[in-house]
Amino acid sequence: MTQRVKGAFDVIPECLEKWRESHAWQHFESVARDLAALYGFQEIRTPVFEYTEVFTRSAGEESDVVLKEMYTFFDKAERSLSLRPELTAPIVRAYIENGLQQMKCDRFFYIGPCFRYDRMQKGRYRQFHQFGAELFGPKDPYLDVETIHFLMQLYKKLGLKNTALKINSIGDKEIREEFARALQAYFTPFTRELSPDSQRRLTSNPLRILDSKDERDREIAKNAPQIAEFLTPYRRTFFEDVLKGLSSLDIPYVIEPSLVRGLDYYCDTVFEVVATTDLGAQNALGGGGRYDGLMKDLGGPDLPGFGFATGIERVLLSMIAENSLGETKNGPDFYLIPLSPASKEYCFLLMKILREEGKSALLHTKNFALKKGLSDASDILAKKAIIIGEEELKTQIATIKCLSTRAEEKMPFSKILKNSILIT
Ligand code: AMP
Repeated sequence: MTQRVKGAFDVIPECLEKWRESHAWQHFESVARDLAALYGFQEIRTPVFEYTEVFTRSAGEESDVVLKEMYTFFDKAERSLSLRPELTAPIVRAYIENGLQQMKCDRFFYIGPCFRYDRMQKGRYRQFHQFGAELFGPKDPYLDVETIHFLMQLYKKLGLKNTALKINSIGDKEIREEFARALQAYFTPFTRELSPDSQRRLTSNPLRILDSKDERDREIAKNAPQIAEFLTPYRRTFFEDVLKGLSSLDIPYVIEPSLVRGLDYYCDTVFEVVATTDLGAQNALGGGGRYDGLMKDLGGPDLPGFGFATGIERVLLSMIAENSLGETKNGPDFYLIPLSPASKEYCFLLMKILREEGKSALLHTKNFALKKGLSDASDILAKKAIIIGEEELKTQIATIKCLSTRAEEKMPFSKILKNSILIT
């Protein structure tokens, strides 16, 4: 088979689907990396696969990601491995395994592929990419706010204006168990009207009914009990402090009582950012929250955590929808156009020297036609063309054409080159 796997895609330099252009990805990554440095997050890279347990013990056996979407397989030694559907659990695993607590590193960012066997549609792929951040440290609402600010700044720096932050508090496991019982009691009389997925969730994980995409489920859920009623005073105050912090940084938010997130490890603050421009059904740009028990559950110290992940594909699609992607391609500084075999030899050496001087340069090799050379130079977005023919070789004066203004100037070879003696 010589086709790519369904649900995966190539990122290439030139593409009609602009979000698949490598320049756009580089632009995203450079903005994200610069911002991570401003917030004190350091890069972490973990393997694309892990022992399956890393995910079943963290996300929960009953989460959709683990139950339906994970690429799990046995290797030749019969060990169960899974391609990572997300990175929080692998990073916690790596933190514990590498003893990073002793090294006083507690803020990490990552960029990399994730894999989920999802139904495919625009903005939803089987190999997709996430940029994310994880922060381990004392439980402090300031850290929640700071990390959410990081994500919102990322969207802002990428030119996205139409985003909305939805936030909720989901308490801890006990609160959720109590809440789940209340939901079960509420939904049971509607069992027959619920979607098949939600009927299953009614016994396995009733909270998930709240974020069902099914219209009928959503209608029924409108009057369901809300988790806020179950929060203890301590957790309510914590949530209020987070909200106060967001307001103090001028970050608008909407409290979304039905937001529960799909993974078991979350507690207290959970949030999601959605695109409010039309992206189709897949409008969730990013999300995250607090996960205080996860480190301990995976065998590490009892250290609280907070993080977010954002899907790079969806951010790029959103940038296109909002016209904020712009031109991210960068052509070479110089395109050398020789008009004869002798001048080609000269241009070849000139190209080498320019590159050694730190200027990007490319040589026109297709023919010795000026017109074709100039049109190729424009196509690749070169900034300047250096034109050298027999006449230029004789006079040692080249023609330099600025491709944006079309202005031409004559320049002695000696001025172009630092060491003109090298080439005569
Ligand atoms: P989640 O942890 O499921 O909320 O995922 C975090 C972000 O990753 C989402 O907000 C999306 O932007 C992105 N994402 C999740 N699943 C997919 C997918 N199958 N294809 C593309 N992006 C995805």
